Amino acid sequence: MINKPHKKSNVVDLNQSLKDREIEIDLLQKTFAEIGSELDLDKVFQIVAERARTLVQAETLLIPLLDENCETYTYRGGSGKNSDEIVGESLPLEFGVCGWVWKHKRPWWLGVLDELSDDEKNLWEEEAGTMIMVPLQGRRHFLGGISGINKIGGGEFTRRDLNLLQMFASIVSIAIENAMAVNNMEKTRTTNDDYRMRLEVLNKQLLESSKELEYLSLYDTVTGLPNRSLFHDRLSRNISQAILAEEYIGLLLIDLNRFKEVNEALGHDRGDLLLKKIARRLERNLKSNETLARLGGDEFVIILPDCNEAQSMRRAKDLKVLLEEPFNIVNTKIVVSGSFGVAMFPVQGDDASSLLSHADSAMYEAKNNATGLCLYDPALDHMTRGHLVMVADIRRAMEERQFELYYQPKISIKDKKLIAAEALGRWVTEERGTVPPDSFIKVLEQNGLLNEYTYWAIESALQQAIIWNREYNLRVAVNLSPHTLMDPKFIENVDKIVGSKENGQYLTFEITENLFLSEYDSLKDVLEYVCQLGINLSIDDYGTGYSSLSRLIKLPVSEIKIDKSFIKNVDTNKDDEVVVKSTIDLAHNLGMTVVAEGVEDEAAMEILRKYNCDVAQGFLISRPLPASEFDQFLKDY
Ligand code: C2E
Ligand code: CA
Ligand code: CA
Repeated sequence: MINKPHKKSNVVDLNQSLKDREIEIDLLQKTFAEIGSELDLDKVFQIVAERARTLVQAETLLIPLLDENCETYTYRGGSGKNSDEIVGESLPLEFGVCGWVWKHKRPWWLGVLDELSDDEKNLWEEEAGTMIMVPLQGRRHFLGGISGINKIGGGEFTRRDLNLLQMFASIVSIAIENAMAVNNMEKTRTTNDDYRMRLEVLNKQLLESSKELEYLSLYDTVTGLPNRSLFHDRLSRNISQAILAEEYIGLLLIDLNRFKEVNEALGHDRGDLLLKKIARRLERNLKSNETLARLGGDEFVIILPDCNEAQSMRRAKDLKVLLEEPFNIVNTKIVVSGSFGVAMFPVQGDDASSLLSHADSAMYEAKNNATGLCLYDPALDHMTRGHLVMVADIRRAMEERQFELYYQPKISIKDKKLIAAEALGRWVTEERGTVPPDSFIKVLEQNGLLNEYTYWAIESALQQAIIWNREYNLRVAVNLSPHTLMDPKFIENVDKIVGSKENGQYLTFEITENLFLSEYDSLKDVLEYVCQLGINLSIDDYGTGYSSLSRLIKLPVSEIKIDKSFIKNVDTNKDDEVVVKSTIDLAHNLGMTVVAEGVEDEAAMEILRKYNCDVAQGFLISRPLPASEFDQFLKDY
């Protein structure tokens, strides 16, 4: 009863590789055909559960639906392992991942992990990859969700699974809502005619919406080209094929130059028309196995399967020339040009996201060079968009003090006492979220702002330390970059901020090991001064550089931190275990305290305890927390 959902536009005709999709589309169609005419609600759930399970290859598939009381949900349908036992069960709404999906009305999958609060992360990190759940959104109400558990054959649910399941859910939700409506009507014994008419209308709507939804979810509405999600899907498939066939893939990202100006000059309708014409021209010149997609705005991307670097660059050059021939828009000749970035699979990225992001870097590089065409070069990656924008923002960030310190506890291994906290910088902005220090410290340094930032960090950490020390006894550690230690005004500034031994005793400075190799002599005075102020000195990332402990002993160092790369696998890697053990012994002989950073599990803790390591820091104890949460952590500890 349902037509083929793709509109037969020339886009689709040209896009030969869409054939790949037919198996899934077939499955979707069969599902609609069956449930579209099915009135028995339980049967609808049964069909939906089975089909969805096949679609994402889940061991178990469940359909939790919101109950009428809006306080609980009930598993109304299921398929696969253990589903018999679970179907029929009801649970409180806020419970588990289901609760999260209700609350946020967004799908749950591996990719949301990054957005979770630390608490949620701790709760669900383990389940993240083994579970996928998309919301079932009715026309008027939020209905519930479809949830897959455990990928058949192990592994994690991918973004592709997510896209498929979302599309599936958006379409079946209509059928489910229909069947529920019919169910209700039956209950209220509406007359037969009424009932049939209503059903007819509903089914017609179902047909329309399913066609529309599928089209919308895969294609860009302006140009009719595949959109970002279909592009990702296609690229992932091409990558799988390329792995088997041991072939290269070229990824070509095109960003139109000054399109914004063109768009403003022409007006948006003609701007859209121009985009369409660009799409058609590029499309006409594609080979049958290539995919052209629009990522949004004035960004296009082309996948070049089975193309090596030289071939991809040649292809890019040809397309670039082609693009630069004038377009005729309502009797006006318009010349456009584009910046072309190329990234190669597998050398410059072995998954869709990294390839795209590298093509993006190359494209930004291309914007700045004369040819307008560039192959990804990791050495030039600092020129990426993220970086450029960051440079513009970072001054404001510093001026407006958009930085925040997070604190991570250090605990004594022997008696579990919380003895210190390390202050770790975060840049918190609305547009970017929470930016980790590895990304912004370098930018600060390149812009001559790092010293200002570091003095700010010392001052903030000290203020916080003074407050906490009214009730607790703990030092707060601040990371100092070598750059700041070398500042001729370092002593003067630290003196201004810290001023007295009374304050100094609340602080530790963490300094990376690498510094000491070259700057040993010139730093001695500075470090001795720091020491006199009562501040502890700690050698950070120990083991990654070249200094020897016996050389460090000549400096007033009281603590060393064994780098987390040694701690990570200390329970399984014999070499790491030996390094850790001998470092602890030697440091103890030299009278230093040893901290292990990056302690993530009990197994590591056990070994550290065995070798008498003094202090542990890591996710096992806590992630770095904002000051207010650390406050709470102190209270609860
Ligand atoms: P670091 O000094 O080695 O800090 C420890 C890093 O390890 C932190 O990353 C922390 O979040 C992370 N970490 C803590 N526990 C674990 C664990 O159990 N497992 C793993 N895998 N990681 C853990 P973060 O906060 O991203 O900081 C990165 C680096 O940035 C720091 O490394 C430090 O060198 C630098 N940094 C942070 N804040 C500042 C600052 O205010 N000034 C300067 N100059 N550098 C800073
Ligand atoms: Ca540190
Ligand atoms: Ca470290």
